[in-house]
Amino acid sequence: MDFGGQNYDVRDGRSYAIAIANATSGKHKRQPKNQKTHEILLQEWTKCCQDSKSACSGNLADMDIIDKIPDQGGPRRKTSVVSVVIHATGDTDLEKVLAFYANNRRLVRPHYLLDLGGTVYQFTPEDRVAYHAGYQGDGPDNEGVLYRAGWEVWSRRIRKAPWIVQEPFEGYAWWRSRWPNLESPTGRWEAGTQVSPGLLAGANPNGATVGIECLSPKHRVPEVFTGAQYAVLPKLVVEICGRHDLPVDKDHVVGHQDLNPIGRSDLSGGWDPGVGFDWARVLG
Ligand SMILES: [Zn+2]
Repeated sequence: MDFGGQNYDVRDGRSYAIAIANATSGKHKRQPKNQKTHEILLQEWTKCCQDSKSACSGNLADMDIIDKIPDQGGPRRKTSVVSVVIHATGDTDLEKVLAFYANNRRLVRPHYLLDLGGTVYQFTPEDRVAYHAGYQGDGPDNEGVLYRAGWEVWSRRIRKAPWIVQEPFEGYAWWRSRWPNLESPTGRWEAGTQVSPGLLAGANPNGATVGIECLSPKHRVPEVFTGAQYAVLPKLVVEICGRHDLPVDKDHVVGHQDLNPIGRSDLSGGWDPGVGFDWARVLG
């Protein structure tokens, strides 16, 4: 397997190659069968985790990483990585999601995809930009522009508008309580100068993050991730953070909804990866 000569060493001294080799004897080799419903898959993997707790609770050998990196990749990074971003695909059709990330011309894909069984697929080397968390809109309605104007401006805008509301949109209340000391994901800027802190330190989200998509049911349903996903995700996150010298904490391991609440919130809150996402299981 060609990983482009990158350093894929992990913190406990193993390498991805070893992890992959070991994974062939791991206990979580079951691949999702797409004809099954998510609920059935969830029951199966939850039971699997309960039956073999040691295998599900932190053994790196169980982390499969499958190279799906296409020939056409994003540009090399110009800035360092400031955070790891967790997403929900909103679709449990693995083959469809794999095909989309492999083939779409706009290079919309994450660095990694985590399927329901805990297998990890890599689509982009970490030293290259993956287009997984960009801002949308034109001119003054571009989400990035709104965030840089601060909470008083962006909290009154709703996606697919431009609808402007009188009071801050209640669908953003979750964001405000989760980040009480920030004005926006980017911070607030005046005359090109950042005057309040933000999660992205002024950087473009795609240029400065590593993205992980988790296969999950369609958006805007109570988010449910499998035990196998919750077992593997922390290991992957720890590895990525280790390679980029990032603390494994709330400020550096975030959801897509944290970086783009305008594009990823509705009245019930954030939906990517969802307000029900169990951060404690990822951050420890
Ligand atoms: Zn997302």
